Amino acid sequence: MIHAYVNRDNLEYDIYALLKAFYPEEEVNICVIHDGEAEKESVRVPSFYDVRLYTDKVSCLYYEVNDSSGGGEAENGFFGNAIHCSSEEILAPGRAVAKDAMKRCIYRCASEVSGRTLPWGILTGIRPVKLAMARINAGDTDEETGKLLTYRYLMSEEKKKLSIEIAHKEKEILKKIDRYGGYSLYIGIPFCPTTCLYCSFTSYPIAKYASLVDDYLAALKKELDLTNEIFKGKSPDSVYIGGGTPTTLTPEKLKELIGYLKNLFDFDKILEFTVEAGRPDSIDKEKLVTLKQLGVTRISINPQTMNDATLKLIGRRHTVEQFKDAFQLARECGFENINADMILGLPGEGLNEVEHTMEGLKELAPDSITVHSMAIKRAAGMAEYLKEHDEIKSINTPEMLGCADRAARELGMKPYYLYRQKNMAGNFENVGYAKAGCEGIYNILIMEELQSIMACGAGTVSKRVYEDGLITRCDNVKDVELYLNRLEEMLERKRKLFLNFSGE
Ligand code: SF4
Repeated sequence: MIHAYVNRDNLEYDIYALLKAFYPEEEVNICVIHDGEAEKESVRVPSFYDVRLYTDKVSCLYYEVNDSSGGGEAENGFFGNAIHCSSEEILAPGRAVAKDAMKRCIYRCASEVSGRTLPWGILTGIRPVKLAMARINAGDTDEETGKLLTYRYLMSEEKKKLSIEIAHKEKEILKKIDRYGGYSLYIGIPFCPTTCLYCSFTSYPIAKYASLVDDYLAALKKELDLTNEIFKGKSPDSVYIGGGTPTTLTPEKLKELIGYLKNLFDFDKILEFTVEAGRPDSIDKEKLVTLKQLGVTRISINPQTMNDATLKLIGRRHTVEQFKDAFQLARECGFENINADMILGLPGEGLNEVEHTMEGLKELAPDSITVHSMAIKRAAGMAEYLKEHDEIKSINTPEMLGCADRAARELGMKPYYLYRQKNMAGNFENVGYAKAGCEGIYNILIMEELQSIMACGAGTVSKRVYEDGLITRCDNVKDVELYLNRLEEMLERKRKLFLNFSGE
């Protein structure tokens, strides 16, 4: 258990996230003690390892790392450090600057105590590329941007280079996008063949919920009608049908949904039309032919790993062979832009398994690969599974990331988007790699929050992005039955979210 005491409000989450990044297994307790109470409180705190961080005018923070060996005096030795921010750092203008100074203090101290460094330095947010992008847009050179990422955020050399490379790539791709006058459309199909062990998305096993499909499609049509009304018939820049697994729908239902969509919008104006065909066990020739005929430009078929034992363990209920067959079938049906998702840090996997997966992907040569670092969410079965199976670990390492990066680059791909999540194995990131022209535009728009997104379906989130940087959002309820029952209320919230959208 780590306790942190801070004497300023609104810093709790930053401190919590940073300490968690160093100590993912530990519970972290943040306590706000206002000035004057700190000394009193520190006496009360049993100090095993007592690391005190003073950031003068910004905050005063204490935290202790509970020592299972019971060595109560250690604070005067190795861990008894007082780290002071320089007054220059503290007095620099702006609250964000002062907050970063405080985080650097915590970082240095926690790094000394734990013996670890973090690849993303003090950054705990999910969109680190935004920082590089902002500096590049402001006219900074790569060298100037790099200095900021190194000194202010303590980013590793490797992540600094990756951020700058991706920021340039995003900038180039976004030239095609009407950022504030346009929008993109997301449609969520919350059904899957089975539920994967690590899943934290809105997903229901199709066999059990098949009777709801008709009602669900009817609700989606109402949401699409509203989209047409709000945006006055203007076509979205990109359309993404995700989930869940949209290809759990029958070919007839896919035709019904996409046909409806095509009657509302002019697809000649749409830059990208993606459908997730994620689970190989949901795909057959008829569905692929249907999607191709309906004008889908990009699909995603996801192995996650090329190791059958792991697929079984994570409840995917398909084999590596099935993935390969589905991929080849998609090629035969004429798909020229196929993405493959994979995950680093799957239980029991190490560098050997990742190498094997990358070799298998190299043989198939997809057009893009999205490399995810396992994020263990409390709501997913994975957290429980790992607790019960102490001998099986979810591990990610720089070598595993390097292996995936090298393989993607050998396939002629470059990284084009990146985001982070909470509780990621190794505190790393998810990176999308693609061959030139095969990048998923929607992925950049949603992850970097660069364009308004109209999102339809259970568990989806619509966002309105304003030119001054403000972002407002409205969530659809996750539970599919509640979604059906409360549809009118959600439509109304979206009307308000996008009020007076056109004309911006
Ligand atoms: S395929 Fe994706 S959405 Fe479906 S259960 Fe697996 S992780 Fe969840």
